[in-house]
Amino acid sequence: MVAFPTETVYGLGGVATSDAAVARIYAAKRRPAHNPLIVHVADLAGARALARFDERAHSAAEAFWPGPLTLVLPQAPGAPLSRLATAGLDTVAVRIPAHPVARALLAAVFLPVAAPSANPSGSVSPTTARHVAADLGDAVDLVLDGGACPVGVESTVLDLSGPEARLLRPGGLERAALERVLGPLAQSSDPAAPRSPGQLASHYAPRLPLRLDAIEAEPDEALLAFGPDAPADGVLVRNLSPAGDPDEAARNLFAMLRELDVSGAARIAVMPIPAEGLGEAVRDRLRRAAAPRAGRSR
Ligand code: AMP
Ligand code: MG
Repeated sequence: MVAFPTETVYGLGGVATSDAAVARIYAAKRRPAHNPLIVHVADLAGARALARFDERAHSAAEAFWPGPLTLVLPQAPGAPLSRLATAGLDTVAVRIPAHPVARALLAAVFLPVAAPSANPSGSVSPTTARHVAADLGDAVDLVLDGGACPVGVESTVLDLSGPEARLLRPGGLERAALERVLGPLAQSSDPAAPRSPGQLASHYAPRLPLRLDAIEAEPDEALLAFGPDAPADGVLVRNLSPAGDPDEAARNLFAMLRELDVSGAARIAVMPIPAEGLGEAVRDRLRRAAAPRAGRSR
């Protein structure tokens, strides 16, 4: 089990054909067994051994791989995948990541690598090797340190297993880019019946409660700021993007949430982020981080 950088966040990788390797990933993350993993491959030939590609899937792969896009596709007949990795579904989530360290790892392993984010299930994803070591400690054998992740939020998950292209999770590839290639996307957002367990309401959550769309911080709050009109950074203030760039906010989001989580404040107030570019993914993560935490014990 090896943690490695991708352009989105750090992943916790194990060989996707091995039940034993995949079981260790679920155990280390304390991830529910019904939440399937993304399977990473080095190239299109590797992806085609696992999944059936129709014309839409080919267009998306051609346009955006390697990159921060995960495609949910029907499994190819005889795909050599541990059933644990796909949680017993007849679909598989596949991705060719772009990060040079991820690509070197996948080329060397020469097998599909199942890799969810390298953090305990439900908590904030790691964007540095230090985050991974702090979160998982001895549960992970090795962390490949590739520096800070350049995108900073998880991959966009697009379901192409049914008749309509459906966005299961906004992420590191902005919706507008996808829609230029595939046309308008359906949104699957019924929280009562998530098609993708990443849609569970509470997820990506820091320890402290969040208050969204704040104008300024109350005395007991830390401030996750955005834009040029915010107070300067200090112990209790981090600015996601002083220039007001939602993509920069994505890059900084998880590291800054982690810093404010241990700032000593009682709560984190978050200024509004526009939905353009990666802002849709940032807002999605913040909404889930602020959601009521049924079943979470911290
Ligand atoms: P992560 O832990 O960030 O790697 O999240 C992977 C995301 O992909 C989760 O939201 C999973 O529920 C989702 N996912 C993986 N496989 C499938 C699948 N076969 N169908 C739908 N969603 C999937
Ligand atoms: Mg995750």
